[in-house]
Amino acid sequence: MTLNGRLVRSISGFYTIHTDQGDFLCRARGIFRLRGVTPLAGDFVTVEALPDGSGSIIDVAERRNALVRPPVCNIDALVVLVSEAVPRADPYIIDKMAAMAAYRGIEIILLINKCDLEPGDVLFEIYRTAGFPVVRASALTGDGVKDLWPLIEGKCIALAGNSGVGKSALINALESEYRASSLPRPEPDVRVGPCRTGEVSERLGRGRHTTRHVELFALPRNVLAADTPGFAALDGLERIPAAALAVCFPDFAPYLDGCRFTGCLHGEGQKGCAVRDAVDGGRIHPSRYASYLKMLGEPS
Ligand code: GDP
Ligand code: ZN
Repeated sequence: MTLNGRLVRSISGFYTIHTDQGDFLCRARGIFRLRGVTPLAGDFVTVEALPDGSGSIIDVAERRNALVRPPVCNIDALVVLVSEAVPRADPYIIDKMAAMAAYRGIEIILLINKCDLEPGDVLFEIYRTAGFPVVRASALTGDGVKDLWPLIEGKCIALAGNSGVGKSALINALESEYRASSLPRPEPDVRVGPCRTGEVSERLGRGRHTTRHVELFALPRNVLAADTPGFAALDGLERIPAAALAVCFPDFAPYLDGCRFTGCLHGEGQKGCAVRDAVDGGRIHPSRYASYLKMLGEPS
C-alpha cells in the first residue's frame, strides 16, 4: 500500500512521515542516494507502508523552495522575529533576509517582539511603509500574539531571528492557545505532526543545536513550524544577481519601470532614476534604500 504524506522529522537517516493514516517511521530507498536526493523536513513524499508498521519513502515531490539552515523545504512563510529591545535588530540584516526570501518566493512576516519593553516604532514604520505584514507582540505577556494567527494559519512556517529575541517564547505563546481556549486538544492518533503539545519547547531546546535532528512542530490551527537558529536561515544560498536585486525589494516595484535608462541599477549617482526619486520624495524608506545600496555593492 502506498500513501502520501509530509516529512516532519529527520534524525540520522530515519524519517517520520505524517499521513492521514498516522505517522510512519521510514527509511529512504537506496535509489535516493544514487539520485543525490536527501529527503528534507517539509518534503511531500510517497511512502510504501510495510507490514511491520514502518514504511519506506519511494518518491519525493519537487520542492517549491528549500532553506539550507535549517534544512527544511516547502516553507510557506518565514516569520522573522525582531525587536528594539535587546537583542536589537539591524534593519540591514532584516532587509537582506527579506530580499533572499523574495528571491526564493517565500513570504516574509515580521513580528516585532518584546513590545512590552520597547514598542518598536522605528521598525514598525520602516516595514509598514515597505508593505510587509508586521505584527507587534509580546511573547512574554501574550499581547498581540493573536494577530499572527490570520497570517500563519494552515501554513508551514520557519521562525528566524537573533538568539534571545523570543522564538521559543513565541512558540510557547502560540501553543498556549490550547490551554487558553476551548479548542479541543488533538488526540494522539489524529494529531498533525510528531509531538504532543507541551513537548514543543522542550524539543526545541534539544533539537536546535544539532544539524542531524530537524523537525517540524505541530502548532494549533494546522501550523507546522521549523525552528531556525539565528539569522542564518538563508546562509549558503547563492547571491542575488545585481540585475534581480531591485525586484526583491517589493516596495521598489511601483517605480521600476519609471527609470530613464533600461537596466538602471538604481545606484546613487544614477540620472533619471525613479527609485531614487521615490526615496527623495519619501515614498521609499531611506533605511530600505541604504540596505539595497549595501547589498548592491557587496562583492560576489
Ligand atoms: P530565542 O533564543 O529566540 O528562542 O529566545 P527565548 O524565547 O529563549 O527568549 C529569550 C529571553 O527573552 C527569555 O528570557 C524570554 O523570557 C525573554 N523574552 C522572550 N519574549 C519576550 C517578550 O516579548 N518580552 C520580554 N520582556 N521578554 C521576552
Ligand atoms: Zn533606477
